[in-house]
Amino acid sequence: MTTESQTTSILDARMMIGGTSVAAADGETFDVVNPANGSVIARAPLGGREDVDRAVAAARKAFDDPKGWANWAAGKRGRTLAKFAALIKDHAEELASLESRNVGKPIGGARGEVIGASLVFDYYAGAANKLFGETIPVSKPGIDLTLREPIGVVGLIVPWNFPILMASWKLAPALAAGNACILKPASYSPLTAIRLGELALEAGIPAGILNVVTGPGGTAGASIAAHHGVGKVAFTGETTTGQEIMRLAAGNVKKISLELGGKSPNIVYADADLEAWAASAPYAVFDNTGQDCCARSRIFVERSVHERAVELLTVATRRVKVGDPASEATEVGTLVSLRQRERVMEYIEIGIREGATVVVGGDVPTDPALAGGAYLMPTIFDHVTNDMRIAAEEIFGPVVTVIPFDTEDEAIALANATPYGLSGSVWSRDIGRALRTAKRLQAGVLSVNSNSSVHTEAPFGGYKMSGIGRELGMHALELYTEVKNIFIDLG
Ligand code: NAD
Repeated sequence: MTTESQTTSILDARMMIGGTSVAAADGETFDVVNPANGSVIARAPLGGREDVDRAVAAARKAFDDPKGWANWAAGKRGRTLAKFAALIKDHAEELASLESRNVGKPIGGARGEVIGASLVFDYYAGAANKLFGETIPVSKPGIDLTLREPIGVVGLIVPWNFPILMASWKLAPALAAGNACILKPASYSPLTAIRLGELALEAGIPAGILNVVTGPGGTAGASIAAHHGVGKVAFTGETTTGQEIMRLAAGNVKKISLELGGKSPNIVYADADLEAWAASAPYAVFDNTGQDCCARSRIFVERSVHERAVELLTVATRRVKVGDPASEATEVGTLVSLRQRERVMEYIEIGIREGATVVVGGDVPTDPALAGGAYLMPTIFDHVTNDMRIAAEEIFGPVVTVIPFDTEDEAIALANATPYGLSGSVWSRDIGRALRTAKRLQAGVLSVNSNSSVHTEAPFGGYKMSGIGRELGMHALELYTEVKNIFIDLG
């Protein structure tokens, strides 16, 4: 990617199609901006339909190669993915710096995500030769067996909030299963995806097996979702975009998996370890400046400890270090863009108009050094009711609402009163009650006395309008394989 223009230091980024770094077919580009200071850090190809056509053709050719990736011994694919994982780790500093400058996330967090992505490739490197089939005792004399086969060309459309990590969740199982991939990063965040395309070649993944097309969702993304040469589309992003992808994918009845929005509850019973809860609660929603589909953005707290919980949460939130993403000390950097900040600030105004109280935050930082960036202080709203827009809609910014409850049933009803169902936490020293609550919550990824949602080895995905399918763990391999049944007559 990195031919650096000598005068401006702006990266001249290229897409990866069929093993070659290329510009968009029509030569158009778009600016990639650092949200911490508004500077243009790269120009990336503005890919569109023609580029997607080229990528699909390259992927199909690579997939159909009788000696190619899909037909390699699974163990060889796994070893190559392990090399890819090691290369990502070796380039951790470079990738973390790219990501941090591209989306405004703190360098420490970005480093952790790059290492996390490398571990995801490692996990699926080991899974490649463990894609077992079954033998089934059918009623005819013979042997019935199943094979797990790759789908073929798969389109992977990812968002800007965790660019390299979201790419790894899709690429790693898709590649382990033998598919040829077309990765489309979000327009805000194309840079680490492009580097992944380059590093995949260096690791020995054949040309055409990992293609990267950059460009807007409405053209490049939609072309992938609609393309009849693509057998499956995996998507992470907003629920409304997911709905559009379902419509586009219908044309050739593509397989689809969707990881969509969330409005996750954080339920705190009076018998919980409130200090432990308060120490982690700010990070459960303000990490990544709240741009996290799993953000515990609705706190439901038992009325008898409501005031104490808000007090502890406020103290802990004031300690969160908001600042320059390049600084090692920073815990919360910027939002992805000034536009995203505007959207979040509109929600803060809506909350105030709805009658909720801002306990802390609600504005941009006062430090003049941060004036040019898309910063916003972590914000707690108290005196909220579940029907207010700030409690009902995904804000995707550093805003949390606090709502009191009186009974276990009420907590569960309030938490479930949302079209989303991605994640959530339950805090209580009564493990029976905590598990009862977790069982009744309509969400795919829950934690008890913890706010940790994501484990490479465990399934991740949403109930209701939060998505279709489960990523991570061995479950993800189901998203990228077809099951073939073969009966052998021994009669
Ligand atoms: P988005 O839906 O705007 O974009 C996601 C991707 O889809 C981008 O690559 C975009 O270019 C592409 N896209 C946009 N319109 C398209 C179209 N018509 N056809 C095909 N592709 C299209 O989402 P975003 O703003 O990048 O990300 C934020 C959203 O992602 C939030 O709602 C968040 O909750 C969700 N998210 C969910 C998960 C999860 O695992 N459930 C994880 C991260 C983010």
